[in-house]
Amino acid sequence: ETPAPPVTDKLPPVGVDPTRASIARVYDAFLNGKDNYEIDRTVLKQVQEHMPSAQELAFENRGFLIRVCRFLATQTDIDQFLDLGSGLPTAENVHQVVQRLRPEARVNYVDNDPVVLAHGRALLEENENCRFVNADIFDTKSILENEEIRSFIDFGRPLALFQMGTLHHYNGPREQPKAMMREFIDALPSGSYVGLSHFLDPQNEHSTTARDAEDAFLHSPMGSGTFRTHAELLELFDGLELVEPGLVRCADWWPDGPQLKSLTSAQRCIAGAVGRKP
Ligand code: SAM
Repeated sequence: ETPAPPVTDKLPPVGVDPTRASIARVYDAFLNGKDNYEIDRTVLKQVQEHMPSAQELAFENRGFLIRVCRFLATQTDIDQFLDLGSGLPTAENVHQVVQRLRPEARVNYVDNDPVVLAHGRALLEENENCRFVNADIFDTKSILENEEIRSFIDFGRPLALFQMGTLHHYNGPREQPKAMMREFIDALPSGSYVGLSHFLDPQNEHSTTARDAEDAFLHSPMGSGTFRTHAELLELFDGLELVEPGLVRCADWWPDGPQLKSLTSAQRCIAGAVGRKP
């Protein structure tokens, strides 16, 4: 009998096109991961030409996500997490951070990238408090009326909904994410939390770099990456009370320790906040 060929991460899973950049694989390349192809690394290089510190967009975003998870798991009673656009599994995923502190917490990941889904399903096979769902996170109905999600996350009790590093990849009308978030927030029960991070146009001397990076993202093989102003981002939290310190650069949201070095351009161009539905 012929032995099965070895499975290596060089073989793209079915449904994966290594000639096109994917958001999830590009993000993995930014984080120095290994689940990416040459085409994905091209996007990183193109952005780095304008913003040499570009990888910190991803590192700050991920650090913020981890701190938000820790905050929710220790300072609130939230025990169900709906992570929209979860990305490829990396060092500390939402379920690892929150279940370390609250073992019974449920985490429902949602993504539509076939590589994310393949890795995610394998990783979570043995964790009954985790689920991976394939759905379009920019189509509110496909999330809010999703039976797989509804059978796992109880919308009758407070939950945490994440849109971390996702909405800047929406390529439709610029105003649309506001309406999208309004629908998500309306569907949440009182006492729920929303965590959201997004590329920021800081409207200062770093704006030019932000616009150049945006241009590089949009014209790259990935084709998405919109920078929004502080005022535009605040609109995404309509109907929520922001947890201190409000909407700030991710680097400034309860950092792990003193900030000795001045922030790079990239660190000034990614912001986040956590809001609570009253
Ligand atoms: N949330 C993670 C984090 O903050 O570390 C990962 C962010 S990554 C930049 C964005 C993720 O959103 C990718 O995994 C991508 O596949 C996913 N994504 C983008 N558009 C999506 C869509 N329309 N539906 C579902 N997932 C989407």
